[in-house]
Amino acid sequence: MTLLGQQDPALERCAAGPLVLLTGAGLSTDSGIPDYRGPGAPARTPMTYQEFVSGPAAQQRYWARSHLGWSRMKRAEPNAGHRAVAALGAELVITQNVDGLHEAAGTPRTVALHGRIADIVCLACRRTTSRAGLQQRLEDANPGWAATHADVAVRPDGDVDLEDTHGFVVPACEDCGGVLKPDVVFFGENVPKPRVECCYAAVEALVGSDGCLLVAGSSLTVMSGLRFVRRAAQLGIPVVIVNRGPTRGDDLAAHKVDTGTSEWLSALAEVRC
Ligand SMILES: [Zn+2]
Repeated sequence: MTLLGQQDPALERCAAGPLVLLTGAGLSTDSGIPDYRGPGAPARTPMTYQEFVSGPAAQQRYWARSHLGWSRMKRAEPNAGHRAVAALGAELVITQNVDGLHEAAGTPRTVALHGRIADIVCLACRRTTSRAGLQQRLEDANPGWAATHADVAVRPDGDVDLEDTHGFVVPACEDCGGVLKPDVVFFGENVPKPRVECCYAAVEALVGSDGCLLVAGSSLTVMSGLRFVRRAAQLGIPVVIVNRGPTRGDDLAAHKVDTGTSEWLSALAEVRC
């Protein structure tokens, strides 16, 4: 089996048999969402869970920036890599991305390990609502805010450089008045247990099959994803990694391909279909 005219044993390994995928930020870079852990990327310090729940000032800072950045984030669309994943017939697609692009590409059986930025949860009553609905409430509560700050630079992932967020009004839960938070796992927060167990089960179900765990576009920097690679390796399930640059799972991989995901996954979808 060849890719760009060369033998690719990794492609051959994934060509048949059940697949469980673990995808990360590298998959969405071709959709214009930058991977801040990728090679040459600047260091970033996103707001931690502890900071977010520390009080109204932190929440004001978070939502004021999010209000300005949302329009950019919501414009992102699935790329060739997402479309290829949707066509692979994988047993499960575990994604570390919060952008919802696997779902938008029509991938069945997706677990958003770290949640989705398009969902909102109330920290008091746990009711979930949509980010789109909240955007309207943010606009209504802060008329003119977006126009006043139109010159603020919005990064491609929707984050913005904005220091002065004094005076920004943060809407509360419409049911109970509780604090609203994006339904994503912040740094310093754990992935909900049932979600983790569902992913472990899918990996473990590969035992005794000719399947493998395919990691695409993740440097496996955080343990929330790396643990599935470790479990697969412990159980003798082959691990294939496709990523630009080194990953923390390279030592455990049967095959490692240092390349972009859109092209490689498209080639895989072609041989599997
Ligand atoms: Zn509530």
